[in-house]
Amino acid sequence: MHPDLAADLAHLPALLQAVREHATAFLEDVDQRPVVPEATGPHRAALPEQGSGLLAALRDFAERWEPGLSASAGPRYLGFVTGGATPAALAGDWLTAAVDQNSMSSLDSTGQRLERETVGWLRDLFGLSGAHESTFVSGATMSNTVGLAIAREWLGERRGVSPAEDGAGALGPARVLSGTPHSSVAKGLSMLGLGRGALTTVATLAGREAVDPVALDAALAESDGPCVVVANAGTVNTGDFDDLRAVAALRDRHDFWLHVDAAFGAFAALTPATAHLVDGLDAADSICVDLHKWLNVPYDSAVQFTRRRDLQSRVFQNSAAYLGPLGDTPDSVHLTPENSHRLRALAAWFALRAYGRDGHREIVERSLACAQSLAEAIDTIPQLRLLAPARLNVVCFTLADDPTPARLAALTAALADRAFLTPTVYAGDPALRAAFSNWRTTEDDVRTVIEALRKAV
Ligand SMILES: *Cc1c(COP(=O)(O)O)cnc(C)c1O
Repeated sequence: MHPDLAADLAHLPALLQAVREHATAFLEDVDQRPVVPEATGPHRAALPEQGSGLLAALRDFAERWEPGLSASAGPRYLGFVTGGATPAALAGDWLTAAVDQNSMSSLDSTGQRLERETVGWLRDLFGLSGAHESTFVSGATMSNTVGLAIAREWLGERRGVSPAEDGAGALGPARVLSGTPHSSVAKGLSMLGLGRGALTTVATLAGREAVDPVALDAALAESDGPCVVVANAGTVNTGDFDDLRAVAALRDRHDFWLHVDAAFGAFAALTPATAHLVDGLDAADSICVDLHKWLNVPYDSAVQFTRRRDLQSRVFQNSAAYLGPLGDTPDSVHLTPENSHRLRALAAWFALRAYGRDGHREIVERSLACAQSLAEAIDTIPQLRLLAPARLNVVCFTLADDPTPARLAALTAALADRAFLTPTVYAGDPALRAAFSNWRTTEDDVRTVIEALRKAV
């Protein structure tokens, strides 16, 4: 064994202790450090021909790279929709690396069964029925893509072909209808050979990002045969929701696969105040839910639910002599684009085991209250204009006068030390959005953001 490896192995407990102390110090400081640091990062170093062991690597990382990292694990990183990592989720993630399981098949360990227990818990958490089977994937983009891949196979079933066997070309053109689809839907369609052009956006309700069911009905009536509808439960700009019951009810008159992108919106189910927003979610044929957002597990973690696991395994089955037959309960190697993967479920398992439904409800309710507080404060700042009510956890607003992208960029730069918000365009207006999903965020943080905003405008 190389002497550096041998030395690290000999001192493994002490080394892990040092890393633990380092990580603890980072987290103790996470709400003090600049949310978005100015540092651009060091120059790239050459590949070390000779290493010098773990501790030297830790020092080098701490010196060169760590100062430029954002405080995305902290309470005032409100860009995109970004969760942190609860203590139990972090512990689960650390252990995932420590036990280093390849969680693709049930040939050698209980990993697959732990994954199944976890997806069962998640199904209950979101109030879904036993008709939905679920698998872990790396993020909502992958979850949407897997859902759309199953939808593609379903379209094939309707047309008497199998895209999985005969190629997307055998299917012919597909039509995918959606009100305000997330950008990852077009990306997924590109990967699946259906093409970004397959996506047709449908009119939304006035002043909303939610699809207009009447317009969707008309678009479906114009379609020549079965198509795919992507309903949105939680849009990234304003946290708006399609009326899922109304959309699902259109299946009485039209033949379509219903995929719901509920990346963060599914968490509305956790509290009575917002549970009505996901009424009808269970009727979907496939559902995307992210876990590295509002479940507050580390990247990369999401789940994909579907009622048609038979079609899912038709698309993703990975036949190899050493993997054994598919069986009634296929291993995840047969259900997602990946073969080998880490025991990704473990962080979510720890989080759910440690805090339960109740703990996660508290996180959701606190996020909702923080979003309300920020929205109310913005309403009282004359230089700012709220663009939509905070329906869930996202606050979308802009400058009252002359909201150019440059002026908004100057505003986010002025905030960067205290908070991170992301730019967007809403109903033609350049705007900013703040999304609350980190478990550490409190009303104190909201006050800090409001104070920083008042100073900056
Ligand atoms: C975040 C998000 C996605 C993409 O998620 P990733 O985890 O970044 O792949 C898709 N849809 C919605 C609604 C989202 O909020």
